[in-house]
Amino acid sequence: MYDLNEFYGILNNIFYHVQAQPGKTATKPNQYTMTIHPGYLISFLFGAIIGSFLNVAILRIPEPDQSVVYPASHCPECKTPLKWYDNIPLFSFIFLRRKCRYCKCPISWQYPLVELSMGLFSLALFHFFPFPWPFVGFFLFTAALLVIIVIDFRHQIIPDIISLPGILAGFACSFLNPAISWTDSGLGIFLGGGILFIISYGYYFFTKRVGMGGGDIKLLAMIGAFLGYQSLPFVIFSSAFLGSLAGLAAMIKQKKGGQTVIPYGPFLAAGALLYLFFETYIQFFMRSLLLTG
Ligand SMILES: [Zn+2]
Repeated sequence: MYDLNEFYGILNNIFYHVQAQPGKTATKPNQYTMTIHPGYLISFLFGAIIGSFLNVAILRIPEPDQSVVYPASHCPECKTPLKWYDNIPLFSFIFLRRKCRYCKCPISWQYPLVELSMGLFSLALFHFFPFPWPFVGFFLFTAALLVIIVIDFRHQIIPDIISLPGILAGFACSFLNPAISWTDSGLGIFLGGGILFIISYGYYFFTKRVGMGGGDIKLLAMIGAFLGYQSLPFVIFSSAFLGSLAGLAAMIKQKKGGQTVIPYGPFLAAGALLYLFFETYIQFFMRSLLLTG
């Protein structure tokens, strides 16, 4: 079953110990210097840098007529253009102590959280998957999921500009990833889109209320494209479970009963991320459930 060896393995790879040089007498017993594995360091820093671009995309994609690349980064409050040293992923947030250098307005936690998440995704992908393939494909996938999670929480929309190209990218990547065939990916798109379409149409047919948006349907098709149709049962059940827990918590907090609306996309994305990194354990667990249950 699941144990922590995998986790210790990651930590051991990141912080491998370099013993004191043989032949020389160490002045203290067990003297060593701790070194960070360059591949892990580079993948984390690269992820954090891409995370700061994702922050810009998250801010600008929901706004109509705003380009993602222009104008240059500026403070959302006082509009002062930022210098390069105000814009260093993670570090600037710490150095500036959460405040804009010019107007002293607080900086949103979204910035360091997205940079840190993308850095950690990149590091974990580097550990689990070979470089360049399927590392690059899954890097694009996790970046798209991260943008979708934040935008859907904030605006209750899943932008087509991410999910539709994402479906094509996932299908294209299946030709470069030996673990997922193009038929796994194609069936993933077809079933991922189809299952949610039937559920959402059925819900509307019986209740005359729209439960799930078309955005969720395209998102699950994108997930099926990248992870194959085999991932869909776990992604659907885990997202429904996590979403129900969050829905209950929101209902209790807002005291609005059944009228509480929470976006479903972030939970689909969370289910997909769990499957991506823990697929072996999930498949083992689900097979043992089927055999014993
Ligand atoms: Zn400012």
